[in-house]
Amino acid sequence: MVTKYIFVTGGVVSSVGKGISVASIGTILKSRGISVSVQKLDPYLNVDPGTMSPYQHGEVFVTQDGAETDLDLGHYERFTAIELTQASNVTSGQVYSSVVAQERRGDFLGGTIQVVPHVTNEIKSRIRKVAEISQAEVIIVEVGGTVGDIEGQPLLEAIRQMRKDEGRDNVLYIHVTFLPHIAATDELKTKPTQHSVNELRRTGIQPDVILCRSDKVISESIKDKISLFCDVDKEAVISLVTSETIYEVPLLLEDARLGDLIVRRLGLRVAASSLEEWRDMVARLKAPKEPVIIGLVGKYVELRDAYYSVREALCHAALAHNREAKIEWLDSEQLDGSADDRLRQVQGMIVPGGFGYRGIEGMIKATRFAREQKVPYLGLCLGMQTMVIEFGRHVFGTDNVNSTEFDASSAYPVIDLLPTQRGVEQKGGSMRLGTYPCHLVPGTIAARAYGAKVVYERHRHRYEFNNRFRQPLEEAGLVSSGLSPDGRLVEMVELRDHPWMLGCQFHPEFRSRPDSPHPLFLALIEAAKETLVEGAQTSLPLNLGR
Ligand code: GLN
Repeated sequence: MVTKYIFVTGGVVSSVGKGISVASIGTILKSRGISVSVQKLDPYLNVDPGTMSPYQHGEVFVTQDGAETDLDLGHYERFTAIELTQASNVTSGQVYSSVVAQERRGDFLGGTIQVVPHVTNEIKSRIRKVAEISQAEVIIVEVGGTVGDIEGQPLLEAIRQMRKDEGRDNVLYIHVTFLPHIAATDELKTKPTQHSVNELRRTGIQPDVILCRSDKVISESIKDKISLFCDVDKEAVISLVTSETIYEVPLLLEDARLGDLIVRRLGLRVAASSLEEWRDMVARLKAPKEPVIIGLVGKYVELRDAYYSVREALCHAALAHNREAKIEWLDSEQLDGSADDRLRQVQGMIVPGGFGYRGIEGMIKATRFAREQKVPYLGLCLGMQTMVIEFGRHVFGTDNVNSTEFDASSAYPVIDLLPTQRGVEQKGGSMRLGTYPCHLVPGTIAARAYGAKVVYERHRHRYEFNNRFRQPLEEAGLVSSGLSPDGRLVEMVELRDHPWMLGCQFHPEFRSRPDSPHPLFLALIEAAKETLVEGAQTSLPLNLGR
């Protein structure tokens, strides 16, 4: 079997939906029975985004094998329903460290180490590794950033060489650009796209397909112009108009015949596309539905990419209940606890993952509100820890209950470093990462939600429930409902005297798919649906959980 490669570059500006386009190409190829895998090449020099601030990078997506990766991998997994590995996110930082390590070992003895061929060879071998691991027929590779970025040059040079190495019929280049709209003349402009394609050509890459993102429909004459100036067949100038929901993008691309074009150009023998279930899902997503209002309490709420997978998981679960997840973004630094009207307007609450003390006290206030007012609550990683801290403060009758992450000298350190984390000084890639089994205690809300005895979930944390406090907290009504196989790590907790309050030390949001929502999110929405909020149901506008 010959592996085929699709390389996707971006031009003009960032944030035009390149990651969603790549994921959608995966969806339309899979719908033809083609096996695919996806990879992202990131130009920056960090080894991975694990140590980057959400302000820089948005969410860190964790793969099942424990890699801390770009949030685009979340799109790839949600759109293609495949589980990726650490090989699917390569950064320039990884590439250079590996080349320098080879040089120190003496692998190139006598040679001068250069970007071409040493760095580009390393990039190519990492692209081929995905083909080898996945055995997929088509590997879709997204190059991060926009053409012209200094750090991106070696990546572009490597993918240019791939066409020569792998054969012209086995490689396809897709360039995603943006057409700005000038309101005064009501025109879409093609010049930035022309410049961007010129920049790409300077690296030796002539795109086969141009995906034109725009907020307005692209006319035939605009397509003619791009086709002429960029030397791309008109059928390969594809319009990507901003859609109501990201899950519509595969349908837009399919209807623009991109799938047929890729299959033809790469000489793939395939079945006819069947996107009927996806189409049905998108239709249900777009149909007006009663909202279910979920408060999301975090310190990066102005920056919604920081909680991307949580937001999507809510949207998927709500859809399965024929509801629309309406997220109330609650800035934890500005929450006043029970006095806060915004907390009174939610039917369910999520405290998602996070690091550092800033905003913690607000999360604890929100958690307390959920416990006292019996609001359905799902705590994700840090949200489980705030749940244990808050319950501890209630049980021990003091605010001197904390995680040692936030107060090293707390009298009641109910959350403490994992034993394996003691003495760990290196910050990058050193947390408890990736999939671990969790045994569910029969009769708990966790066991009911999953309908299983053992589940496998993805972790990313350094701290855990401190077993020293297990007995007093359990006696007071905290139920340890999910445990590591040896029983030593409490992975899930819930409250005995509450209809639905649950915290998990892992991140279930990474495993939710639009057509297969996560059981914990499904159960949260189920409980939230039953929660009535005075006046809120009519006063809030509809959106699509975005
Ligand atoms: N900061 C906490 C820890 O390291 C929680 C991490 C998280 O929410 N991902 O344990």
